[in-house]
This record gives sequence, structure tokens and C-alpha cells, in this order.
Amino acid sequence: MVDIGGTRVTMREQPVRERIKNFHSVPFGYDEKEVVAEAQRCIMCMHAPCEIYCPVRLKIKAMIRKIAERKFKEAFLIAKEDNPIPAITGRVCPQEDQCEGVCPLAETENGVNIGKLEAFIADWAMKKGITEEFYIEERTEKVAVIGSGPAGISCAVDLRKFGYQVTMFEALHEAGGVLQYGIPAFRLPKDIVDYELSYLKKIGVDIQLNNIIGQNIRFSELRENFDAIFIGTGAGAPLFIGIEGEELNGVYSANEFLIRVNLMKAYDFPEHDTPIVCGDEVGVIGAGNVAMDAARCALRLNAKKVYILYRRTKRESPARDEEVQHALEEGIIFKELISPTRMLGNEKGWVTGIELAKMRLGELDKSGRPRPIKIEDSEFTMKLDTVVEALGSRPNRLFLDQSPELERNKWGVLVVDENLNTNIRGVFAGGDAISGGATVILALGEGRKAAKSIHKYLSKGDGK
Ligand code: FAD
Ligand code: SF4
Repeated sequence: MVDIGGTRVTMREQPVRERIKNFHSVPFGYDEKEVVAEAQRCIMCMHAPCEIYCPVRLKIKAMIRKIAERKFKEAFLIAKEDNPIPAITGRVCPQEDQCEGVCPLAETENGVNIGKLEAFIADWAMKKGITEEFYIEERTEKVAVIGSGPAGISCAVDLRKFGYQVTMFEALHEAGGVLQYGIPAFRLPKDIVDYELSYLKKIGVDIQLNNIIGQNIRFSELRENFDAIFIGTGAGAPLFIGIEGEELNGVYSANEFLIRVNLMKAYDFPEHDTPIVCGDEVGVIGAGNVAMDAARCALRLNAKKVYILYRRTKRESPARDEEVQHALEEGIIFKELISPTRMLGNEKGWVTGIELAKMRLGELDKSGRPRPIKIEDSEFTMKLDTVVEALGSRPNRLFLDQSPELERNKWGVLVVDENLNTNIRGVFAGGDAISGGATVILALGEGRKAAKSIHKYLSKGDGK
């Protein structure tokens, strides 16, 4: 039998026993020899389905060909054409559901490890100080970008390439959105996020930190002072189950928990000012990427036992395969087919445990996953010192309440047309603010699409 494509080159990783004590990257990344060998697995198939399934239509085949020829600089420049942050997407994209999942090699072995190839060339370019060179023909029109997550980043980069004067407003004291405050450093090292953001400054994006639109600056002021606006404010308001005891001390939303750990560096207390109380036994409710991140952070904060409490089974988990795999290797315990009914606390107001009901799986629901159904009178309790709720999120009300003129649906998600125009002329939106929560690459794609619509609007007066 012919071994087409061969076996995937193994990614070297920090050993489990070491990595659960630190926040350093789990994968070491390929070296030059490994990356070339992995690229040479690509059979250069004619229709390159990997590209069709990439939300930003990265020219993956051409990029891989250059890597296989050891032309790393050329490979990097190809990636940069369609993706302003390849070092980030290479690490966090759900490749198994996109490019790698449809690679013909995935039928018999693993698809080409496209994510790790992309991360390699971006890291290589960073070490060599190589960036994309382009000429900007300056224009006088001013565009405001609200939010510095992936949607805002890609929109700002493309707007600068068109020549517009771009000011980015960010509520927090560091730029990057979820890349900075949500995804932990062991998955996405922060020096990489900082480097990718430094590129924005280099091409002339004016980044205004600590500026909450709707609080320090009114939305109406932006409308008066800018020729167009892009809203990339994400979906940072956490959802709660709404059960008794959620107000107890020691119960966190995943957003608060991860912001304290990642942005405020609670793991380095007292070197950094923000403390976090993380007990010996931690329960994380939910099983998506956010839940895996919270669980693996809790482990690194010295919790003795960390449970994922999930109403379906790990097979239905929406998290990336790699994250579930890493969580299991690190000793995170999956408690499947259970759903919380009540948090238990002591007289001092601290959480001491949780009451859960057993579930069974029923018919498929709208998400295509089996619906969890409660088994009557099946409640039982579990002792826990800390509970983290990772149930999803919605757009923040603060901005929405201050801009009632913007059309939104009942969940606070902004309504846009196919060109990402909101109901207001010259105001566009993308990313989690219009999806309610999706992925980095989808947010990037929408940022780019909005930049094109803004360019069309400003150059031809198109739009609403
Ligand atoms: P965000 O990244 O949320 O950025 C929005 C920015 O706007 C924030 O910086 C916010 O502070 C700012 N902002 C909000 N309101 C205002 C205001 N009024 N004024 C000024 N600034 C404002 N996706 C993946 O593809 N892979 C993963 O592995 C993955 N893991 C994740 C892990 C976690 C913990 C979380 C929370 C999400 C994860 N996601 C993942 C989802 C992904 O990160 C998001 O879909 C993506 O970041 C959305 O980008 P965005 O630019 O729309 O919003
Ligand atoms: Fe190469 Fe797989 Fe893409 Fe085909 S689908 S071009 S084999 S990476």
C-alpha cells in the first residue's frame, strides 16, 4: 500500500507534570526540519478543500508549498495577505472543523497540521523581524474602530491599507480583546499577542486604551467626529444559570475568573495586585473552550481536583479537540450528563458545594446535538470550594444602553445586513457583537468584510 501523505509529524509538548505548574505554552512548536517534513505531507490536491473551508480563504496550498521548499519568508507573506494575525489563528483556530478536517489525508491519518505550520512561519518571521511591506496612499477620512479584539484588529489593518485615518477605542487597559484577557498564555503566549498588536501601531493605527464608548466618550460624539464607525465590541457579558446560591462567594463567571488570571495576572499575586480565591476542589460548569480554559487555569492555581460539569457528554463538547485532549491529559475530571440545580453555601456566605441532577440524552436539537433531558428525582450533591460558570455570553449592555438608536435583537446582538451595515448610515459591525459568540477567525473575516464595505461607503457614498 502506498503511504500517501505519511504520518503527521508529532508536536513536541511540555510534559504534563511540568506544564500543570506553569502558564507557558504547552506545544513547543515545530523546528525547521519538522515543519518542512510536515509541509511535505501535503499532496497538493487540485481543489484544495482546506482553502474553501477557511473562513478568510487563506491561500493554504501556496503557503504550504513555500514551507516545503524552505521559503519561509514567502510562506509568511502569503499568509499575511489574508490574515493579519497568523501566529494567533495558527494556535487557536478550530482547524479540525475547518481546513484540517476536510484535508483528504484526514480520511486515513491526520490532515496536514496546517495550524502549526501557520504558527511556525509567523513565529519565524517575528524572530527575524520580517513584516509585510506595503505602500499606504493616505486619505483624509477618519474611521473609529470600537473594540480591539480580532474583529477590530482586522478591520483596522485593512482600513489603514486603504489609507484611512484609524482610531481604535478599547475599554480595557490592554488591547487584544479575548486574545488578551480570555485565552490563557499556555494556549496563546501574550508576547505573541503583543507583537501582533505592535504591527497595528507600526502601520499607524492610533490605539486609545481605557476608553469605554458609551461611558467616557458618547457614541453620538463618535458619530459627529468620524466619517465611519466599526463596532467590534464582542460579547463580554456572561450568562448565568439563574439558580439559588449563585451570589455566594467563590462562585465566578468564567469571564471574571479568566480576566483576573490572564489580564490582572492573579496567578502572580502578590507580585501583581489582583488576588483570586481558588480552592482545592473546583467545578467548572460547561464544556466549551472557555470552560476548558477556566478548568486548566484552576489546575495551574494549585487546585487538587478540577471537574468539568457538563449536561451532555464530552463527545458533544463544542471545545477544540486539542483542548479537550490536553485537559484530559492534565487530569481534569469530566462529570458528564449532570446539570446544576442549586449552589450550596455556609453561614459565612462561601460556596461549599453544588446540587446536580442527572441527565439523559434525547433527540437532536437545533444545534445538531442530542438534547439533554433531566431525570426526575435524581439530584445529588458534590463538595466544591470554587465554582466557575462557563455558559456563554452576550454583548455588554453598557454600550447598547448608551446607543439606543442601534438596532439589536432580543439578546442584544446587533442587527446588520449582508455588507455588515447596521441600521445607521456609516456605522458597521462584526465579530461576536453580531454573532453573540463565535470564533477568532470568523471575527477576523467579518472585520475584513466590514473594512471593504466602509471603503465602498466612503469612496462612493454607498451604504444606508
Ligand atoms: P472580543 O475579542 O471580545 O473583543 C472585543 C473588545 O471590545 C474587547 O477588548 C472589549 O474590551 C472591547 N469593548 C467592548 N465594549 C467596548 C466599549 N464600549 N468601548 C470600547 N471597547 C469596548 N475562538 C477560537 O477561534 N478559538 C479558541 O480557542 C477560542 N477560545 C476562547 C476562549 C475564551 C476564554 C473565550 C472567552 C473565547 C474563545 N474563543 C475562541 C472565541 C473568540 O475569542 C471570540 O469569538 C473572538 O475573540 C471575538 O472577537 P471580537 O473582536 O468580536 O470580540
Ligand atoms: Fe494539502 Fe490537505 Fe490542503 Fe489538499 S487539503 S492542499 S492535501 S493541506
